[in-house]
Amino acid sequence: MLQTFKTLPQLFAAFPTEQSAIDHFTAIRWANGKFCALCGNADESRIGTLKGTNTHKCYVCRKRFSIRVGTIFQDTKLPLRTWYAAIWMITNHPKGIASTTLATDLGVTQKTAWFVLHRLRHAARTDSFNAPLDGVVEVDETFVGGKFHNKSKSERRKGSGRGGIGSGKTAVIGAVSRDGDVVAKVITSVDGETLKGFVRETVSKDAEMLVTDTWVGYKGLRSEYRHRTVNHSIGQYVKGAAHTNTIESVWSMMKRQIVGIHHWVSPKHLDRYVGEMTYRMNRREMAKGDRVNDLLALTEGRRLTYKLLIA
Ligand SMILES: [Zn+2]
Repeated sequence: MLQTFKTLPQLFAAFPTEQSAIDHFTAIRWANGKFCALCGNADESRIGTLKGTNTHKCYVCRKRFSIRVGTIFQDTKLPLRTWYAAIWMITNHPKGIASTTLATDLGVTQKTAWFVLHRLRHAARTDSFNAPLDGVVEVDETFVGGKFHNKSKSERRKGSGRGGIGSGKTAVIGAVSRDGDVVAKVITSVDGETLKGFVRETVSKDAEMLVTDTWVGYKGLRSEYRHRTVNHSIGQYVKGAAHTNTIESVWSMMKRQIVGIHHWVSPKHLDRYVGEMTYRMNRREMAKGDRVNDLLALTEGRRLTYKLLIA
């Protein structure tokens, strides 16, 4: 039975020692059987554990490894119990957490806290929403940062031109099903190929309705989707069930979080913040303790080295 917990004190009580935290992570990682993180050998009989240690040995590649190898926990000396506390905070604080706050709460340096948060964001930015969105789905893009705060969206779209979004602003595209889940990511162009490509990979062809605004980038989807549009440029915001209010509120929440918690997010890291935010939104009905185990299950194979992170 996997350990579960409803509160932060329960989490600490569940893992009184570092060994108990290691055992918990091992149970999650090897939930479907032991395997070697180095060569992929999944023959349990050919994996051993050196007595009285946390070192495993693979009898296929002859190498030794810890359960952290091949996960976001690799190459850090930070105790897993500290990671668990960080995961609790990042998954359960509705707006996320700044690295300065996390550093103070955990008693680590800000550099460590920053790295922990980015690795967790990396794990949270999953392909876990492979299932296409259904029901009524709204798709829209927004622009973050840059010099043109006062420019209208249509001006920004036109100014973005071919081959990318210039002028220090970053475009984010998102889809939200009114039944629940959100998918969003940073894009480098707002042309038709990019926007329609996102729609096709994100929205089910059987969706009850696809709603966008009338931007030319979304033109041509009517043969594939029940596509309805609202024409914002003539002041039209709601046309029956056709509106993009849900995705608009996702954007305003995202911007409040970026400004309120992080003050500023560089374009380089924006995609991870977007991933963190959608991760939290999509788990808003999940019990708090379950979110910790959920993220622990995503740490696999998503190793992010410091070198890669700061590159
Ligand atoms: Zn091996």
